Amino acid sequence: MDEIEHQIHGRSRTPEEEILGIHKVIYSVRAGEEKFRQVGQDGGTATRLLAHALEVGLVNAFVTTGFTKSNSVFVLGSGVPMKAAPIIGSTTQDILATAGSKYTHGGVLAGLSDAAASFPNGRIGLVALPCELQGLWRLRTSLQGTYKFGGSGIVGGRPTLAIGVFCSKVYYHDKFVGDFIEKKHGVDPSKVTRNAIKHGRYRAFVGEEVVIDVPVKEVDALAVGSCKYCIDYTAELSDISVGGIGSPDGWNTVIVRTQLGERLFESARRANAIEAQPIDESSSARELLQRLVGKKKQNNAYYLRRGIRKDRVSLRAVTQVLQPSLMA
Ligand SMILES: Cc1cc2nc3c(=O)[nH]c(=O)nc-3n(C[C@H](O)[C@H](O)[C@H](O)COP(=O)(O)OP(=O)(O)OC[C@H]3O[C@@H](n4cnc5c(N)ncnc54)[C@H](O)[C@@H]3O)c2cc1C
Ligand code: SF4
Repeated sequence: MDEIEHQIHGRSRTPEEEILGIHKVIYSVRAGEEKFRQVGQDGGTATRLLAHALEVGLVNAFVTTGFTKSNSVFVLGSGVPMKAAPIIGSTTQDILATAGSKYTHGGVLAGLSDAAASFPNGRIGLVALPCELQGLWRLRTSLQGTYKFGGSGIVGGRPTLAIGVFCSKVYYHDKFVGDFIEKKHGVDPSKVTRNAIKHGRYRAFVGEEVVIDVPVKEVDALAVGSCKYCIDYTAELSDISVGGIGSPDGWNTVIVRTQLGERLFESARRANAIEAQPIDESSSARELLQRLVGKKKQNNAYYLRRGIRKDRVSLRAVTQVLQPSLMA
């Protein structure tokens, strides 16, 4: 992780950045125009920032996550309601069409290699979950990754811009959509227009009508197993991260991390594409953000906190894991 951060930022994180990752500034933000706020999950900031990147020519194509609409057998997950999938696009209309959170994996990295093939001179923008960005960077710093993206339009295997969304967990599609939404609640998933997890509740909407409203604990058991071990809440390897916690309803918390992220953010602000208020280090919003993000690290990194469990791992395996670092 330190090596990757050195490649991105040219430095290691400071002790103050241990929880939120390397960053420059943190803001509460929302999109300047109503049309972005209306379709956006919180303040429409992720969508607006990507659209601004397109408007100013920073990117000319992008990969986001939408629901599959096609019935073509050639389209991943085709015909399955609420099946998230990577969507490649090049217009603001395409960006608006994929706004909103999908609480299952879409697999944007698969879309990234397709985008590289479709846009050989592409300056590609990517909106991704924290683990997807971790995967991207692990690929990029491995031989296999160089092979996968080598010679493609994604220069050096890296999208031009990476916007990360905060994430605490995703759910298995078959359990969440099939068993929970469809069977348990009798709701036709193809009619669901919006999903929201906020203030400890999961809500599904059909238009303006709330069709499911339950404590989020009810869907906890449907979460993907690997999320239990994930310690990245705020997309620490993005240029700019966008989430909900720490800001009022209808606004986003934005963590500006890289120089590129800062350039995009300032440009969007000057163009009134976004409205922004700083979240000061001493504010209660910052304290809440630090606390919740720290809690995920603390809970999920139990294997680090408690050491390697003897009953799960053989002594031989432990020695093999430890040996290279002991020799380094
Ligand atoms: C699975 C998941 C869990 C989340 N958990 C939290 C949380 O615990 N706390 C918190 O503060 N915020 C969480 N978020 C982020 C939050 O829901 C919003 O996405 C974020 O605040 C940005 O809001 P916005 O209005 O700017 O989004 P929008 O402008 O609507 O843009 C959202 C962007 O995210 C992309 N996207 C949607 N679903 C996915 C997906 N499954 N994989 C990759 N990209 C996707 C869309 O394509 C779009 O580009 C989560 C998001 C997801 C997808
Ligand atoms: S919790 Fe972590 S592993 Fe699970 S989907 Fe979110 S970023 Fe990925």
